[in-house]
Order: sequence, then C-alpha cells, then structure tokens
Amino acid sequence: MRPFDYHRAATFDDLAAGQIIAGGTNLLDLMKIQVMTPQRLVDITRLDGMSGIEPEGDGLRIGALVTNTALANDTRVRAGWPLLSRAILAGASAQIRNKATTGGNLLQRTRCPYFYDTSQACNKRAPGTGCAAQGGAGRMLALFGTTEHCLAAHPSDMAVALTALDAQVDVRRASGDTERLPILDLYAAPKDQPDRETILNEGDLITALILPAPRDGSRQGYRKVRDRASYAFALVSVAGSVTMTDGTIDAVTLAFGSVAPHPWVIPEAERQLTGQTASDDLFRAVADTLAPDAAPHPDTEYKRTLLRRTFIATMRQLTGLADTAGTDIARAPA
Ligand code: SF4
Repeated sequence: MRPFDYHRAATFDDLAAGQIIAGGTNLLDLMKIQVMTPQRLVDITRLDGMSGIEPEGDGLRIGALVTNTALANDTRVRAGWPLLSRAILAGASAQIRNKATTGGNLLQRTRCPYFYDTSQACNKRAPGTGCAAQGGAGRMLALFGTTEHCLAAHPSDMAVALTALDAQVDVRRASGDTERLPILDLYAAPKDQPDRETILNEGDLITALILPAPRDGSRQGYRKVRDRASYAFALVSVAGSVTMTDGTIDAVTLAFGSVAPHPWVIPEAERQLTGQTASDDLFRAVADTLAPDAAPHPDTEYKRTLLRRTFIATMRQLTGLADTAGTDIARAPA
C-alpha cells in the first residue's frame, strides 16, 4: 500500500478534497493491491445525520453510514421491506456486513478479475488502456449495458433490491446543494468512460437512501444464484415485489443483478405481467423476451438461460405457484 494522508471530517464544511472512506471494505482491498492509490483519505464516519434509520412519511430514511448489518436487522425493514433485508444477508460475510455502509455498498467496484490485476489492460482502472476481458475469461461479466470499452457487471445485492423497491438516493454535492434522485439515476452508463460509474463528482456524498412505503400485502423476494451458498457474488439475481388479487397480478416491480453495470430493469417485462393471471405459460412467455439474442462475451452465454430460469422460479414463488418454504420470499404487511 502506498503512503497516504488521512483526514477525518468533523462537519460537512470540513470535507477536504480526497477519496472518501466510510466502512472501507472494498476501498482498502483496492488500495492494498494498488488498484486505487488515493493521496488522501477523507473519513466521513463522524458526520452528523447519516447514521440513523428514521421514518419519512410512510417510508424510511436510511442514513448512508448505517451498516449493512443494522439495516438488514432493523425490525421495520424486516417487516415492511423484507426483500431488502434478505438481499443484504445474501451478500458478503457477517464481518464485512458489520463494517460496510449503505452508501458504500452502492458504490462498490466491479469484481471483474482484470480490474484487480494491475498487469492487465482495463479501461475502468486505467482509462484508455483497453479491456483484457475482451478475449479473456469472462463468466462474471454483464449481458446488458455493455460497450466495447467495458463488459463488467455491478456486484451489489442491496442495490438490486433497492431498485425493485423504487428507492431514492439523497446526494449532497460538494457545493452544498442537495438533490434526491431515483437509485438508477445514481449510476452512469459506461459508454466510452467505464471509469466513471456514477454521477457523483469529487466531494459529492450520498447522505441517505429513501424507501417509499411498501405496497400493502406485497410479496417480496430476492433470488441469488451463485457458485457456492455463501460469501460469493451473484452470477444472476432477481429481486421482485408483487401484489395480486384472486390470482391476477395487480402490480409488479423487478430488478436484475449481476447482468449489467448497474441494477437492471426491464419495464416491458413488468408491463407484460401486470393485469395477467399468474401462470407458468405467462412466465415462460415473458422469460423468452428478457435476454438479448447474443451475449456480449462468449463466457456469459450461460447467463441468458440462467436469467430466464431464475426469473421464472422467482415469479412462481412470488405469485404462489411454487412453495416458498425455505426460500427468500416474504410478505409485507397488508
Ligand atoms: Fe476492465 Fe471493464 Fe474490461 Fe473488466 S470488462 S477488464 S473492468 S474494462
């Protein structure tokens, strides 16, 4: 690790220029292998107003410094937004969740192996150097939203759940201005600048997440497919929230993980499901429309089938066609 300066900000006015650190669970790993080499770390863990979970309207305001463990175990979250709790608990290890923050989870970097290997070309780590994943090994890469400059997928479980729950993000700009935006608007499309992953500029902060009230009686679930049962990133994940009346789907929100540079939504799939009677035929028909005809990297071809099957399994459980015992499906209060 290279030497660096350290500054602990006491107030928002005390924020100095530099790389922001909170839990540091991803950043410190990247610094140790010199993928990131900041000259100064700015510790924000003492800033006021970012460490609590408070009611906001019929929803919740979650401070950006709330740990993943505290958020997953909050009784209000477990009751009203069980999808979020279960997605968090599907990620990382207990030790990492104890340290990792809500804001940091959203900003974690890709797990593309070439990004972590400084001997390899990587436009995300070193803009303009190329992309070693092109022609290399790539089973963790994305299906959607890729360019010739980068094929990497976003690894967060929590961000996928938050997308399906229509969460918003509060941002404080370096100027002191604040704004609230839908979570997907936090992420920048890679285009020809894969190193720029969000709309945040130096000195900008995520201060909180806003969870809107859950839909009454919604069934929520997060299904994560991975190489082993714990401490592994998703190959594909599906987060969903469904409300039904007498077998008909009244409303559905879905988000897909580990298939794009950010949580991925397919509005057309939600449109096809809404107002329809839940059935295997319906889910198979919608599943056929989900994935592109060809994968951007030959190693991700399997994800097209995996996404289809994971979607069908999730929808069967969310709509009661399949048994939910022992699964990550839960019902919000009616
Ligand atoms: Fe880097 Fe993206 Fe290519 Fe991976 S896919 S090597 S992160 S540019």
